[in-house]
Amino acid sequence: MDKIAKLPPEVAQKIAAGEVIERPVSVVKELVENALDAGAGEIVVELLGGGKNRILVRDDGHGMSRRDAELCFERHATSKIAAEEDLLAIATLGFRGEALASIAAVSRLTLKTSEGGTAAGTLIEREGDRLTAEKDVAFPRGTAVEVRDLFYNLPARLKFLRGDSGELSPIVKYLSNVALAYPRLRLTLRHGPRTVLDGPPVDGLRERIFQLHGRAAVEALMEIDHAEAGTRLQGFASRPPAGRPDRSHQFFFVNQRPVRDKILASALLQAYRGLLEKDRWPEAFLFLTVPPDEVDVNVHPAKSEVRFLRSSSIFQLVLHAVDRARARAGGIKPVAAAPADRSENRGDEPVEYIPGAPGSADGLPFRVEEGKFTDSERLPFLRDGETGPALAEASERRVLGQYADSYIVAVDPDGLMVVDQHNAHERVLFERFAEIDRRRSWPVKLSLIPLLFELSPSQTVSLEANQGLLQESGFRADPMGGRSYALLEYPDIFQPEQALMAFLALLDEIRDSKAGERKSKLLATMACKTAIKAGQPLSREKMEFLVRELFRTPNPAVCPHGRPIVVRLSRLEIEKGLRRR
Ligand code: ADP
Ligand code: MG
Repeated sequence: MDKIAKLPPEVAQKIAAGEVIERPVSVVKELVENALDAGAGEIVVELLGGGKNRILVRDDGHGMSRRDAELCFERHATSKIAAEEDLLAIATLGFRGEALASIAAVSRLTLKTSEGGTAAGTLIEREGDRLTAEKDVAFPRGTAVEVRDLFYNLPARLKFLRGDSGELSPIVKYLSNVALAYPRLRLTLRHGPRTVLDGPPVDGLRERIFQLHGRAAVEALMEIDHAEAGTRLQGFASRPPAGRPDRSHQFFFVNQRPVRDKILASALLQAYRGLLEKDRWPEAFLFLTVPPDEVDVNVHPAKSEVRFLRSSSIFQLVLHAVDRARARAGGIKPVAAAPADRSENRGDEPVEYIPGAPGSADGLPFRVEEGKFTDSERLPFLRDGETGPALAEASERRVLGQYADSYIVAVDPDGLMVVDQHNAHERVLFERFAEIDRRRSWPVKLSLIPLLFELSPSQTVSLEANQGLLQESGFRADPMGGRSYALLEYPDIFQPEQALMAFLALLDEIRDSKAGERKSKLLATMACKTAIKAGQPLSREKMEFLVRELFRTPNPAVCPHGRPIVVRLSRLEIEKGLRRR
């Protein structure tokens, strides 16, 4: 029996559309790319309902003729490439000729466009794949595309969309990227009555970073500019030893196109290895300019990934560029990877880091060479001399000491164990915080001096969307005008500077997590920020207390972020190794 039938074109069309258009941000991205390709100096984006109800993208680019406006909805209709060879050297953001066709297939769309001058502008309306109106319209030079009711005819897709702020937040992120890549562009984003992003043109990247992220961000960066063999890396990256508590501020662009790229990301990490404090990541705004025939941008339907012809030289370029910048920035005391034998390398001499040298990837704990951590620094929630019901079982377990200021070495009847002090403390605090949270009894502290900070547009969205959640956990922040906020209240487990750091980390963390996971992410982040760090010497009492508390928790094996806490060497293994068995 024959089973195969050719899909009706409308169905095939919708399937293809689904690959390019996944959610509102995909529409915004395609329309904004078209505007940029049309040479726009100004782009306005207006949204309703996180883009689910309405997306308008208006530009002042070169516009389209009547014929082009009719043709642009055809699949594989493009003005950007003409022949297969052109795929080898793409200089525009678009080239696949399927964005408008795809968007039109899954929405109600209105296009207005004009080339300016005396010719009349064109208005076209489409619904799904039907043309519903076409007429003359008075319109200034440029193009406006309005997309209503995205996925109205694709209920399966509609169901998977997030709430308004969940859809808004990737759009803000994407447009922040565009703003960075095109400093001279005037870019505005409005969500309903609110202006979320307002970026007048500026002279360069530095001013743009300032506009988006504030003064503190700019001051923590150093300029990067380095070229090798026709390839150039420019931009800004963390000035060591500053860094960020997470990786959310790493922006990569290849020939002006924002991309996610493993090669650039891992080269960046490698370049900073040994330069930042533990649990800190480099922040970076990096623009790579490669000859168009040395990069393939056609590897992903949404064009967000690229492939390099000579990826190892790209990797090297990043390493060298960061090194050069650091030498230029000068006067910085690096945080060195602790050598295996610390007695050989004491004092002020930082350990020289040689990129790519063997042993540089050995994952030794980083530590600050200055004696920054003192034993007198009180561990939050570690009450000295506390006794409890767990004393009996604790007597079976004995702490021998601390290794590399990071690991607690202990024994019990089963053998030896090495406990990661940071991960262990994180687990202990997480359980306590979860308990406090269940009882909804966060002790709150009022800031005596207002803790001021600035937020990027996407952090602002995260703050507004999660006000309730944050307040439940004892954080209250009020807007102070512009991008400035003041942290007025915070949970009474933090020192003031810690509170601010934790709060900012929380905003980034919960922005990127699903609604159901936000609470536990929040508690995990709070635990991580208050836990003792690796590289901190501990008194015996503190170690004993920590180990005892750890084994009282329901899950002493892994920390709230899923990293292991304890490694064991059993008595059996010891005896086998020593040939006693
Ligand atoms: P692509 O961008 O891959 O060429 P699209 O479907 O996004 O494919 O657009 C099809 C064509 O419509 C483009 O090649 C361009 O000629 C034209 N076009 C689309 N948007 C605009 C715009 N904002 N301004 C001018 N021309 C546009
Ligand atoms: Mg396009």
